[in-house]
Amino acid sequence: DGESAMQHNIYLFGAPGAGKGTQAQLLSEKLGIPQLSTGDMLRAARKEGSELGNRVAALMDSGQLVPDEVVIELVKQRLARPDHQAGVILDGFPRTIKQAEALDAMFAATGRAPLRVISVEVAFDEIRRRLAGRRWCARCNGTFHVTDNPPRPGNSPGCDVSSCPPAVRPDARPEAIEKRLQAYSQQTAPLMDYY
Ligand code: AMP
Repeated sequence: DGESAMQHNIYLFGAPGAGKGTQAQLLSEKLGIPQLSTGDMLRAARKEGSELGNRVAALMDSGQLVPDEVVIELVKQRLARPDHQAGVILDGFPRTIKQAEALDAMFAATGRAPLRVISVEVAFDEIRRRLAGRRWCARCNGTFHVTDNPPRPGNSPGCDVSSCPPAVRPDARPEAIEKRLQAYSQQTAPLMDYY
């Protein structure tokens, strides 16, 4: 119908560290529609210390995916919100065929406009360099890079570095980076053919 024709539903597909989050934020501002990042939602759940947050912590820190049911339920609740009816930028979801099928079912059930897929392609060696240098501020969720985008006081809204020093995210340790790239190759890359 006319309403769903104006909906922008965009899925950013790519490996961790490819820059999906950065592009999602830019698109979100430009189009005036929310960014839906399952990674951010899971990190928020951990910060709250919720039961869900505690359940997924070890998997996330080791670089493995959390169970499909967990993220599918988070996305289902988020897509139902009134401020998500003009569209959504999906960042980090879906990451498995099962998640993509669940998303298709949600879109069909609620009459959403078809997903537009943007593939963000970056070589693994560059991804390793980016992820290893990534710094993160737990308070404002700002992401930085030691050389490419160094943290400075005030360069992320609401965050002053003196009281909130950006840290290495646990999943940016070398072993975790390799696990994440492996999860991407084995579980997420097949979505290229799916879409
Ligand atoms: P991200 O910030 O998108 O790289 O996500 C950080 C971590 O959260 C991932 O390494 C996974 O452990 C978990 N995660 C985020 N999104 C998903 C998803 N769609 N499916 C499974 N696990 C996810």
